Amino acid sequence: MMSLLRLHTALRPRVVSAVTCGVVEPVLRAPYLSTARWLPEFFAWPEQKRRAWQRDRLQAVLRHARNEVPYYRDVLAGRDVDGVDLTELPVIDKAMMRPCMDNFLSRGWRDIPHIAKKTGGSTGDPFQYPLDKRAWVHIYGANLYFWESTGYRYGERLVMVSSPPSLQSASEGLKTRLRSVLEGRVISAAGCHIDPETSLERALAAGRARGALWYGYASHIAAMADAVLEAGVRVPAPKAIVTTAELLFPTWRERIEQAFEAPLRDQYGCNDGGIMSQGCSHDRLHLAENVSIVEILDDAGRRCPPGEEGDVVVTNLHARTLPFLRYRIGDRAVLGAGTCPCGTEGTFLERVVGRHGDNLQLPNGKHVSMHPLGKCFFDARHVRRYQFVQPEPGRIQVRLEVEPGFDADERSMILGEVRRVVGSVVDVDLTTDEPMEITRGGKHRVIVRAFDTA
Ligand SMILES: [Zn+2]
Repeated sequence: MMSLLRLHTALRPRVVSAVTCGVVEPVLRAPYLSTARWLPEFFAWPEQKRRAWQRDRLQAVLRHARNEVPYYRDVLAGRDVDGVDLTELPVIDKAMMRPCMDNFLSRGWRDIPHIAKKTGGSTGDPFQYPLDKRAWVHIYGANLYFWESTGYRYGERLVMVSSPPSLQSASEGLKTRLRSVLEGRVISAAGCHIDPETSLERALAAGRARGALWYGYASHIAAMADAVLEAGVRVPAPKAIVTTAELLFPTWRERIEQAFEAPLRDQYGCNDGGIMSQGCSHDRLHLAENVSIVEILDDAGRRCPPGEEGDVVVTNLHARTLPFLRYRIGDRAVLGAGTCPCGTEGTFLERVVGRHGDNLQLPNGKHVSMHPLGKCFFDARHVRRYQFVQPEPGRIQVRLEVEPGFDADERSMILGEVRRVVGSVVDVDLTTDEPMEITRGGKHRVIVRAFDTA
C-alpha cells in the first residue's frame, strides 16, 4: 500500500506535466507549462541574445500600439518603431489611464484573447483591466519556473496557505478549476485571520496535506511559524516555502525557517504592468526577463544607477489589448549591480523598498522609506512584527507585537534607532498593546500614514 502511494506520488508530476502540455495547453491555447520548461534555456542564453529577443517583442508591441492604440498613435505618429528607444516614451500610470481608458485600449481589444484582471483594493484604488492571454502565459510560466527552481515539480501537491483575495483568480471558471485540480492545489485554512488558533490549525492542515510547496502571504506564514513554535509541535516540512505580496521581514524569515525547516523564497510580482521575480539564496530578486523590461527611475525620470532607490517602471513585452509601456506601478526598488553573488545571470533587484506611499513624511519635508526603518530592528530579538503609524506629521507611533523576553533594554534600543533615523523633529512613542492595522485583503502594512502632503 505504502509503495503504491509512493509510486503515485512519484508519477503524478510526470503524468500531470504530460497531460498539461499534451491536452490542457492546446485546449486553453495557453502554453504556460511549456513556457516554464523553456525558461531554463532562455536564462542560459548569452545576455546579448536575451536582449535581442526582448527587443523583437518590444518592437512588435510598439508597432501594434502605434497602429491600434489612440494614445500611442499620437505619441509615435509617423515613427518607425525600429528606431524608437524605450526611454523616448512617456512614463504612464494608473491615475493617468483611468479617466481615459479608451485612449489606452487597443482598437478591437475584445477580439484579442485576454483575461479580465483586477488589482486588489489594498492600495485604496482598485484597477480593472484586460491582460493579453499571451502576457498571462509568460507571467504564469515564469511563476512556475521559479517554483520549480526550489525543487518542487509541477503536479506535486501545492498548498495555498490561507486564501487572501489577491491570490485567487479573477475568473473562477471551469478552466481555472480544472487547472487547480490538475495542479493539486489545496487550501489549508480559508480566510485570512492570523490569530494563534487559526494559524496553528492552518499549519497543521498544511502539514497533513503533505504539500511539496507552500505558497502564501509572508505575514500569514510567519503567524503559522509563531503558533507552531509556541505549541511545540512538529509539522511535516514541504520542499520549499514561497512567500508573496508583502515585504518579508528578516525576523519573519528566521521564525519561518526555524519552525518549518524548509528553504524560503520570496516572490515579488505585479500583474498590471507585469513583473515576476523571485528571491535567490542571496535574497536578491531575479526578474523574469521573458515577461517585461524593468527600469528604476529617479524623480526627474532618469534611469537610476544600480544601488540607487527609485520608481519601478515596467514595460510588458506581450500586452496588446492594453499596452503597458513604461508604466509606473507605484513601488520603489533598487537595481542590483553586475552579476548576483548566487551566480544566476540576468537583471535583479537588490531590494524592493515598498509602495510609493509607504513612507513617513516628516515636518521638515524629509521622506523616510521602509528600508532604514527596517534596519532599526536588526538587533531586536523579541519582536514578531512592527508597524509605524503616523497620525499627523509630528507624531509617530511604533506598534510592536513582541514575545516573552522583550524588556526595557530592547525597547530603548529600538526607540533610539528610530529616533536616530527620523531625527528630533517628530515625537516617537512605542507601544506593545495596540493592534496592528491590516488592509482589507489581509496584508500587513509597515507604514500607516493618516495624511497626505501636497
Ligand atoms: Zn541571485
